[in-house]
Amino acid sequence: MGTRRERIMEVLLSSDAPLTAEAIIEAAGLDMKPRDVYEELEHVRKTLRRQGIKLVMVPPECRKCGYVFKDRERLSRPSRCPQCKSERISSPLFYVIR
Ligand SMILES: [Zn+2]
Repeated sequence: MGTRRERIMEVLLSSDAPLTAEAIIEAAGLDMKPRDVYEELEHVRKTLRRQGIKLVMVPPECRKCGYVFKDRERLSRPSRCPQCKSERISSPLFYVIR
């Protein structure tokens, strides 16, 4: 079965569509919270980079004003929009480029 980090990596490597943390949890059959997935993804990003594979994040967006978190380095969902202070932020999506 592998560790949960390995399973997350497998899901990303075998998916042809960008996935949210929630979708990764479901596809990997894991019982964990999205915030824990984001933490694992920081490690996954480093591991994949060593293999010449890039983990890409489709940036989250504010559902109220449309602000896009495009320069965000952290692989996670921000809690609040810097522009309008709304907490209705979309989940980021993740995919890999070989
Ligand atoms: Zn906003």
